[in-house]
Amino acid sequence: MSKKPYQFETLALHAGQAVDATQSRGVPVYRTSSYLFKNTEHAANLFALKELGNIYTRLMNPTTDVLEQRVTQLEGGAASVALASGTSAIFYTVITLAEAGDNIVSANNLYGGTYTQFDAILPKLGIDVTFVDPKDPANFEKAINEKTRALYIETIGNPVLDYTDVKAIAEVAHRNCLPLIVDATFTTPYLLKTIELGADIVINSLTKWLGGHGAGIGGIITDAGRFDWKAGRHPLFTQPDANYHGLCWGIDLPEPLAPIAFALRVRTVPLRNLGACISPDNSWLFIQGIETLPVRMARHSENALKVAEHLKAHPKVAWVRYPGLKDDPSYPIASRDLKHGFGGMVVFGVKGGYDAAVKIIDTIDLFSHLANVGDAKSLILHPASTSHSQMTKEQQAQSGLTSDLIRLSVGMEHPDDLITALDEVLAKV
Ligand SMILES: *Cc1c(COP(=O)(O)O)cnc(C)c1O
Repeated sequence: MSKKPYQFETLALHAGQAVDATQSRGVPVYRTSSYLFKNTEHAANLFALKELGNIYTRLMNPTTDVLEQRVTQLEGGAASVALASGTSAIFYTVITLAEAGDNIVSANNLYGGTYTQFDAILPKLGIDVTFVDPKDPANFEKAINEKTRALYIETIGNPVLDYTDVKAIAEVAHRNCLPLIVDATFTTPYLLKTIELGADIVINSLTKWLGGHGAGIGGIITDAGRFDWKAGRHPLFTQPDANYHGLCWGIDLPEPLAPIAFALRVRTVPLRNLGACISPDNSWLFIQGIETLPVRMARHSENALKVAEHLKAHPKVAWVRYPGLKDDPSYPIASRDLKHGFGGMVVFGVKGGYDAAVKIIDTIDLFSHLANVGDAKSLILHPASTSHSQMTKEQQAQSGLTSDLIRLSVGMEHPDDLITALDEVLAKV
């Protein structure tokens, strides 16, 4: 593929693939654990990062490399590292830039698993997380202390789908010499160019819309390639690293590698030594998914808007949140940033509260009752009793999660069929 400035749709189909000697049009799956060295000098150069090349599939794989390059180009970043899950991508991101004694300031409206990781696991490892309400960017500024190593947000937060002002929070981060980490799973690079808005590290769960078919688990970290790790707040990048020949990641790397110090440290320290690598078969699945991401995301967004508008007008519905509804609290900022649609997630509550929510979930047709989002098929869940049940009642209330909340991941069925399915159960409550 030539280096022309191709549009998103074109990159989604072609970026990162160099057709190999077999002339295979599809991206081949390289099912191998390891790669031959040409001689001992070649092997030594690979281990010393003097030469880049394949060593072992825990560290890199040619199929995974296509996936990483493709996501890098779609996000407009400098390098990506694919991992076994979105969850491991989040954990490896944090431990690449923070250690015991350090602090992360995070939005409080997170994916359930991330909340538990930050609230119950990181503190046991000595990394303290301060949760703040992301609706006011000044809350991040107030919570930063001398041990803070990064700010963390999601583009559209769980569970009430508040859109986060990425740009305003990036400004707070950069004023304080801190990187902004953004979990962009709910928007994907098709709906939002998080790096253009100031994100330094972008995380996507490949499991969701990027893969798009509920067929595998994976995650990916994209390094924007422009954060200055020497700016004074990151000893892990300015002091010799015992994990890698005493290298100072922010200082010692030669020019072509210097901007991607973060991505290189993710690969070389946690991925290499803790091992949550993605399987090449799953990388292939996610490449297939990404080929159709632009068409799917547009359709998910269209269908979700139709469902949200229908629910909004329904007499049995108490409330609806969807960032694309004109009277939604998130609409002013979401509509400034999201030019291609507002995503596939809709949440609502019915008159009749918890009992009515349970009845809807237990009897609805067409929507699959399960704990995932971003499948081509429509999904339904009650977060308070499932994905967010590890949170205390107070934590749930602070993040806006009420016991009547029903979460829909709107799929690509015909919207009339989805609306009929919802009307049928609403008639019974
Ligand atoms: C699913 C999800 C994750 C976790 O990703 P897995 O691939 O399931 O580990 C993280 N953040 C968000 C917003 C998610 O939806």
